[in-house]
Amino acid sequence: MNNLMLDRRQALTLGLGSIASLALAACGGSNTDEAADSAVVYKIATDTTFAPFEYQDTDGTYVGIDIELLAAVAADQGFEYELQPLGFDAALQAVQASQADGVIAGMSITDERREVFDFSEPYFDSTVCAAAKTGGDIKSLDDLNGKTVAVKTGTMSEAWANSLAQEYGFTTVTFDTSDVMYQDVAAGNTACCFEDTPVMSYAISTGNVDLELIAEADADSEFATPYGFAVNKGANAELLSMFDAGLANLKDNGTYDEIVAKYVQSVD
Ligand code: GLN
Repeated sequence: MNNLMLDRRQALTLGLGSIASLALAACGGSNTDEAADSAVVYKIATDTTFAPFEYQDTDGTYVGIDIELLAAVAADQGFEYELQPLGFDAALQAVQASQADGVIAGMSITDERREVFDFSEPYFDSTVCAAAKTGGDIKSLDDLNGKTVAVKTGTMSEAWANSLAQEYGFTTVTFDTSDVMYQDVAAGNTACCFEDTPVMSYAISTGNVDLELIAEADADSEFATPYGFAVNKGANAELLSMFDAGLANLKDNGTYDEIVAKYVQSVD
């Protein structure tokens, strides 16, 4: 039993779901037409660097809560997929253009996005924050007057920054990836960056970047919404319902908590 469990965890860690999918995709011709018809390999888009949800380990393998959750849901529901780490904005665009079937990328569920995407049940609570250089001059939003701040294209935290820009007198510059955005603040080019709190806190607590939180959106604000898996509106209903069914099973059998606990210290 223990061995079996270990094997399962190792399989998840190694992202074997996606490897199996790639192998399946690479097979090309199937034995029968029937098999070819049933061999659906869903393309699932994700962000490139958004620890602890998706990022590459030292071997270059994609790991993280989203990656393991997807692998576990696919194993539970028996579907195949190919992971496409495109970057956040590009991932959303790929789904909207029907170039990918679904997206799991720490994607905040919002009413605006519900107009163009169908979302799964929420799977992780989140909010947004601002972070500046540790021990620097920027201690709060009040210190941002006349400054330039860094935001990530198409994100909830960018929307939060834009909603504050006039009041606090700052301008924004956009980045496609979180890691490059943090480096820009660390290098002193921008006064602070806006990011999802769980992601910023993880980067800070793992010592990946020398920044500290200077502000956070209120827990009841429109910017504090949970993450969901999404498909293009009206498309891939079967994939979406499999995700929901799998997620419910993983929550019931403890796998969801195990995955989150691997990456986040305290699980509520
Ligand atoms: N949660 C944020 C959003 O949905 C950011 C996601 C991300 O950068 N991967 O906008």
